[in-house]
Amino acid sequence: MNNNLIAAIDLGGTKIYTVLADVQGKILAFTREETKSTQGSDAIIRQMASTVHTVFEQAGQSTSRLSAVGVCAAGFFDWQKKIMIHSPNLPGWDMVPLERELEEQFGVPVIVENDANAQALGEARFGAGRGANDQIFITVSTGIGAGLIIDGNIYRGSKGFAGEAGHMVVKPDGPVCGCGRRGCLETISSGTAIARAAHNAVSDGKIRTSLSATLAREGKLTTPHVFQAAQLGDTVAKDILAEAIHYLGIGLVNLVNLLNPEMIIIGGGVAEAGEVFLHPLREMIVHNAIPPSAAVITLKKAELGVEAGVTGMLCALSDVCASEEE
Ligand SMILES: [Zn+2]
Repeated sequence: MNNNLIAAIDLGGTKIYTVLADVQGKILAFTREETKSTQGSDAIIRQMASTVHTVFEQAGQSTSRLSAVGVCAAGFFDWQKKIMIHSPNLPGWDMVPLERELEEQFGVPVIVENDANAQALGEARFGAGRGANDQIFITVSTGIGAGLIIDGNIYRGSKGFAGEAGHMVVKPDGPVCGCGRRGCLETISSGTAIARAAHNAVSDGKIRTSLSATLAREGKLTTPHVFQAAQLGDTVAKDILAEAIHYLGIGLVNLVNLLNPEMIIIGGGVAEAGEVFLHPLREMIVHNAIPPSAAVITLKKAELGVEAGVTGMLCALSDVCASEEE
């Protein structure tokens, strides 16, 4: 088994990131290319297969040494039926039997995992969550996703859909979410929501804000623009962030009370703002979660960045390879 090689693929809406590793997780080669996201699932599955051939060529290895493939992607993956029910980043990906189709391509066992679950496992084993058995990974970027690590492993629920923290309702009369309901956490606290609130504040025009000049100069407003404006004292930007952080804090307090984790790891583009984002979240938990749970929680920024998903898939594949050896 030690001679065998494993491939991990992070299938994103814009990029496919593929790494080749040995079963100890040592990376031998990698490739990153644009996802042919508009060409449908068949074309993307062929593209994934082609990236695996590329990393074998780069490493000077024969593809006959491939023993297993792990893929993580955003979306609702039915862990029991092995079907990608829907992927928000990949148009037309509905009810795709992804695992079976990939196994036909590769001729070896394939594991598919939700991307936040994979990132959570990667951070737990090799990133910010090292040493903590029970932890929550939350990624705050265009949307909000989460992975729950309980007793060292991914908690999936009965069919694989656990951890949809972005769709916890925190404000019942809030904005309409992509899932069709109102007031989901990601409609208020995601990067998309923060940028939308900034645009709305400028078009509203009732209060002076430096975001107006930023929009005129840059042609758009992003989360980093809002953080920069807030740091320079812009009260509109400060209020937008305060609301996003407040509702994310409510979500985290509820998760802490429910699961009593040792650690919360925050990843995604919005968390790149660092302590200005993390410190108030920590304060929210300390003052609002039930005291015995609040007393043991550590909240940290994720460490692995874009490597988290493939790292998690390499961990999952190593676990499978190890259990086959027993
Ligand atoms: Zn929702």
